[in-house]
Amino acid sequence: MREAGGMPELPEVETIRRDLQGEIVGRKIKAVEVRNGRTVRRHPSAKHFRARLEGRTITSIDRAGKYLLLGLDDGDTLVVHLGMSGQLQRAKSAKEAKAPHTHAVFTFTQGGQLRFVDPRTFGELFVSAASADGGPVVPELAHLGFDPLEEVMSWERFWVMLSSRSVGLKSLLMNQEFVAGIGNIYADEILFAAGLRYDRQSDSLSSQEVRRLYRAMVETLAEAVKRRGSSLADEQYRDLFGEVGDYQGQHQVYDREGQACRRCRATVVRVKSGGRSTFLCEHCQV
Ligand SMILES: [Zn+2]
Repeated sequence: MREAGGMPELPEVETIRRDLQGEIVGRKIKAVEVRNGRTVRRHPSAKHFRARLEGRTITSIDRAGKYLLLGLDDGDTLVVHLGMSGQLQRAKSAKEAKAPHTHAVFTFTQGGQLRFVDPRTFGELFVSAASADGGPVVPELAHLGFDPLEEVMSWERFWVMLSSRSVGLKSLLMNQEFVAGIGNIYADEILFAAGLRYDRQSDSLSSQEVRRLYRAMVETLAEAVKRRGSSLADEQYRDLFGEVGDYQGQHQVYDREGQACRRCRATVVRVKSGGRSTFLCEHCQV
């Protein structure tokens, strides 16, 4: 039995960020069309959202955890959260047919459109004014933990962070206030790569295990970005050009219940805990 993998995680959002950087930085927004008001629900009206964007030029594309931050030439930021099923699609021309569930369309003065497609409508778009320290004012981002790809950290520091709490490793990896961008898929893959169980307590690790976990986290996420993310059976994750990712074929445990572990040939099992599934090899992970 398969289940939805949840929202795009760091590797998928980072792949989209890199695609956007090459495609839309420097482009001026001529018109914004909001086709579903729920997508811009933080604004008092669709008109209010449009007015903040029309005439603005996109100057930068950043990522904070699973959020995309599109910098604008007036200092504001267009924040994109893909939610469970959101996709950004690049259309070279306004004439290209729109996908079902296209909820917002940005038309550039030169160079086609950017479209936001979101069947389940958990995703959202909103414009945020710059704060005094230059960062965007987004409540969710104020307490975001460290970024495992952007912030290099010593394993000793990571050890201090881990041992200051006593919680299961998987829930800690998925806690966005501890480390940003990891969800159900990559938590399982990181823990397999580290040889650690999901329910090992964070303050019970030896120095060697801490080093293995840190390395597994950085290497798993970097490799997944290199392979442009994971698309599951539902294919809800697609890149800016509508292509699926390539990392799902590398999954060692996620969604492989009943199959042989690629390392030891024992059977990969699925455990239900905290309302979600965890996949692991009980022989390789201790
Ligand atoms: Zn195994």
